[in-house]
Amino acid sequence: MITLSAKPVTEEIRKHLEYRAEKFHQKYTRRPRLAVVLIGNNPASVIYTKKKGEGAVSVGIEHETLNFPETATPAEVQNAVQRLNEDPTIDGILIQRPLPPGFSEDEVLYWVSPEKDVDAFHPQTVGKLVLGLPGLQPCTPAGVMELLKFYKINLAGRLACVIGRSAIVGKPMAMMLLQANATVIQCHSKTPNLRSLTSQAEILVVAAGKPTLVDSSFIREGAAVVDVGIHRTTDGKIIGDVVFNDVAKKAGALTPVPGGVGPMTISVLLTNTLYAAEHRMGDSSR
Ligand code: NAD
Repeated sequence: MITLSAKPVTEEIRKHLEYRAEKFHQKYTRRPRLAVVLIGNNPASVIYTKKKGEGAVSVGIEHETLNFPETATPAEVQNAVQRLNEDPTIDGILIQRPLPPGFSEDEVLYWVSPEKDVDAFHPQTVGKLVLGLPGLQPCTPAGVMELLKFYKINLAGRLACVIGRSAIVGKPMAMMLLQANATVIQCHSKTPNLRSLTSQAEILVVAAGKPTLVDSSFIREGAAVVDVGIHRTTDGKIIGDVVFNDVAKKAGALTPVPGGVGPMTISVLLTNTLYAAEHRMGDSSR
């Protein structure tokens, strides 16, 4: 069984990004810049925001965090995002989720201008993904694709199954697997007989947000299994949606949690920021 660890992949991506960020700096005498908007102080969001900033700095991307109190109104935050949209020194903008009560996800999706939309949540960005046009990629599913590519897991003509249909993970994941010529089964909370479907899959991506949902009885012998789930147990351990030790006995390849999909997500975010910076300057490499 191969452990699909993010470390060698993120290391390779980091070197490439460092090189591109330096080239950008030399050419345009400024560094690419990422702005993160954080509303409130949800502890997980504070940690994620900090990690994104540290990741950016480590490859030569500048960053700033705009921290709004939980009491900020949607209009205040939207105005600030609009200023970032218009600021020529800002290349990428993301609004950290979850949003506090009072903010409508359906409205916020439109706030970041598509050219700076490094989370790839804007409906225009999603439309490009569906059409297979080049552009910014949703970070978590694109991270899964990078991981599968690095470990040479073939997708063309193979049967892939995704558990989950959220807008940020499940749906774009299925779309990307389809574009890589896999035959895709998409499962969700209303899918009956989940096991009978997952156990056919040669590639299984689990993004249900349900700790230990998937054990070896869901797995086809030799399948590549990607665990997107992240949960903190009461004793402080980080676990996924997959029971690692049990699934490892049957799978051919499996991501660890932590150290699998999580770090890949940040790598893609940084890749998107560089892409957005280069693209805005008319200098795209994707
Ligand atoms: P979500 O709650 O928005 O969506 C979960 C999806 O799973 C839904 O579509 C639902 O229909 C489906 N589902 C739930 N229970 C199911 C069941 N028993 N059987 C079949 N389908 C079921 O969650 P999300 O935002 O897509 O995130 C999923 C998980 O991935 C969470 O644990 C989240 O923390 C994690 N996540 C990790 C990263 C990362 O960087 N590693 C990024 C985003 C999300």
